[in-house]
Amino acid sequence: MRGMASFLDALRYRGIRDERVLQAMASLDRRRFVPPEQAANADFDAALPIGHEQTISQPFVVALMTEALALRGDERVLEIGTGSGYQTAVLSALAREVYSIEIVPELHARARAVLVDELGLQNVHLRRGDGYAGWPEAAPFDAIILTAAPERIPTPLIEQLAIGGRMIAPVGAQDGEQELVLVRRIAEDDVVVEKILGVRFVPMTRENLAQ
Ligand code: SAH
Repeated sequence: MRGMASFLDALRYRGIRDERVLQAMASLDRRRFVPPEQAANADFDAALPIGHEQTISQPFVVALMTEALALRGDERVLEIGTGSGYQTAVLSALAREVYSIEIVPELHARARAVLVDELGLQNVHLRRGDGYAGWPEAAPFDAIILTAAPERIPTPLIEQLAIGGRMIAPVGAQDGEQELVLVRRIAEDDVVVEKILGVRFVPMTRENLAQ
């Protein structure tokens, strides 16, 4: 990435301390994950449109959310909202296995092309579908990250979080302010929820609601 020193400096300045997260982001070219017309903006610390009314998250928010998961390298991670695949690639560098679900078929297909065909990432598993139900066959997960905002955290996702695991998610009304929350499952029936920051994410959408 161009201007890498300033990119990392900006993340450090804003409070990102986890060197593993900073190095993982430094070694990824964000331009690969944005449409050609956004390539010139890829090094800015800003969310950018990726089509289908979706956005690639702001690098600072990617760093903050990833840091909150406190990954050490041996985790199984679930991501809801693959989008561009940028966050997925960061997770791939920091954890053992990454499972990521995307609801928009075109975004799922494009992310697969970048992550699997171009980058050859071996520990990334991609699925097209509604992430509300999680990925039960691959559960439990040591870490779960939502990159689209539900009004409240889907129960299946809490159930698929390992005891001792961490989940980071934007939660709140679709057209209003949301809160980034860190959920820690400290026992079978005991979760601790901590508010981190006010944020604005695209809403988590649903399919097959009429059953
Ligand atoms: N981490 C991504 C963020 C993309 S925006 C990136 O940085 O590129 C959030 C994504 O969540 C969008 O691609 C949207 O289509 C997807 N999404 C929304 N609701 C979903 C759901 N129920 N299941 C899976 N993906 C969903």
